[in-house]
Amino acid sequence: MVSADLPAGLSDWQQAPRVRALNDRPSVGAGRYVLCWLQQALRAYDNPVIDAAVRLGNVLRLPVLVYHGVREDYPYASDRLHHFILGASVDLADGCRRRGLAFVRHVDREGQREKGLVYRLAAEAAVVILEDQPTFVARWQSERVATRVDVPVFTVNAACLVPPALIGINVRGRTAFLRCHEPERAHWSTWDEEVADVKPYAGALPFTPDRSENADLVALIANLDIDHSLPASSMHPAGRVAAEARLARLVAEVLPGYASARNDATRPDGASGLSPYLHFGVLGPREIMAALQGARAGGQHKRKFADELLGWREWFHFQAHALAAPERYDRIASWASETLAAHTGDARTEQETLAALIHGETRDETWNACQRQFLIDGWMHNNLRMYWGKRLIAMTPSPEAAWATACYLSDRLSIDGRDPSTYGNIAAMFGGSPSDRERPIYGRVATRGDGSTRRREGGTEWLAAASLRSVPRVSIPSEVPVDPYLTGEATI
Ligand SMILES: Cc1cc2nc3c(=O)[nH]c(=O)nc-3n(C[C@H](O)[C@H](O)[C@H](O)COP(=O)(O)OP(=O)(O)OC[C@H]3O[C@@H](n4cnc5c(N)ncnc54)[C@H](O)[C@@H]3O)c2cc1C
Repeated sequence: MVSADLPAGLSDWQQAPRVRALNDRPSVGAGRYVLCWLQQALRAYDNPVIDAAVRLGNVLRLPVLVYHGVREDYPYASDRLHHFILGASVDLADGCRRRGLAFVRHVDREGQREKGLVYRLAAEAAVVILEDQPTFVARWQSERVATRVDVPVFTVNAACLVPPALIGINVRGRTAFLRCHEPERAHWSTWDEEVADVKPYAGALPFTPDRSENADLVALIANLDIDHSLPASSMHPAGRVAAEARLARLVAEVLPGYASARNDATRPDGASGLSPYLHFGVLGPREIMAALQGARAGGQHKRKFADELLGWREWFHFQAHALAAPERYDRIASWASETLAAHTGDARTEQETLAALIHGETRDETWNACQRQFLIDGWMHNNLRMYWGKRLIAMTPSPEAAWATACYLSDRLSIDGRDPSTYGNIAAMFGGSPSDRERPIYGRVATRGDGSTRRREGGTEWLAAASLRSVPRVSIPSEVPVDPYLTGEATI
């Protein structure tokens, strides 16, 4: 839908290209509020989803009700993900109240089940505003809800600085993408936060909202039917305060050396560590770029960071929006799937069990060092991820199994998993430029060594120590699970 078809409040909005209609319900209903349903854009300020809801609320003279719900049965639900999500949710609630908006949360659990809560909340709404996420649960849930409710549903992009819809649909490569993306950045770097004209919604609700604050979360999460074997990450504390501290560290300590230190996995301060906060929208790209403006760092560092945050991250978001199922193996380059298929009969002497892979207890010391970052920290350094991913092609029975295993390990263990960057980068590890050499198992897909870490001063010692870090013993499934949203078996 083009912006001209959007209702007043969204169409005249300077950010209309962020907005898409998800269904064709003709007109705004006679509801009591504008429902703003957040799944992953978990910040109260500089959040285009909330701003869109407030704008529409102001036009309709209706209050906004912000809703965030967490269930026990989303794939890979664990202490790690629940802590990160709910910690962000508590701060989101505070921020919404400060903005004069009503916020309600539901954590689904034994004794407090709320079947079809989103539908019941939508039934009382005039219109539903939700976020445009191109991967995993958020995408499938939004699409499903939009087909089943009687009111209009609009989806708003909050993940990117430049709305992906502005990039031409015929754009195929990253160079062409950057040609469209770069000229747009300045325009989308400024914004006016929308202020609610209408008092917070204080009317009836179809459920009793959850009031848990940070202090209650540990006990709450301990009683849920989720994977308790995977603990929260101490490297990435949940919530807005932790995210702001990480951003301040980037500006003061990381950015001044970023272009040269970023590829050094042995340095704890070489990269920003922001990806978990970006994935769950605790921070948005616009405020990160704004914070960088005043940083005392050379232009080469700022440019390099912008290339990662905007040039790469938003390229993968754009790709994911263009694909029906970005999480599927069939997205990889056809030459790559052909050359890999031609080698499926090759001997695979380096295969490992799923238990050895998950715990980082394989015969490959470097791989174990990488995997233990995922398992312990819930994050992996960028420079290790390509080695980690490419080696899986030899460590699993087939290229399809390597794909599924890479997605599973990222999605379950890494806080920034389940993201457009997850599947885009995993696809890139199967593609890139074809190698001149034809190798066993890999065919013409390029391999990757560990020299960029091992050859550094102290690199060999660092890898040895990192491969021996003590890991939590986590549950091991009998086989790599298939994402139920890909098989159509998911319910909401
Ligand atoms: C095989 C493989 C799998 C990956 N899986 C994920 C994933 O699940 N989730 C994820 O967010 N990133 C993923 N990446 C990209 C990248 O490794 C991480 O974004 C980065 O390591 C996060 O650390 P950081 O925040 O310190 O990055 P920094 O170096 O500080 O970069 C700043 C930000 O730029 C973005 N960025 C940096 N590198 C990339 C990249 N290659 N692609 C897209 N965005 C990038 C991230 O949002 C990051 O937070 C993957 C890369 C590879 C090679």
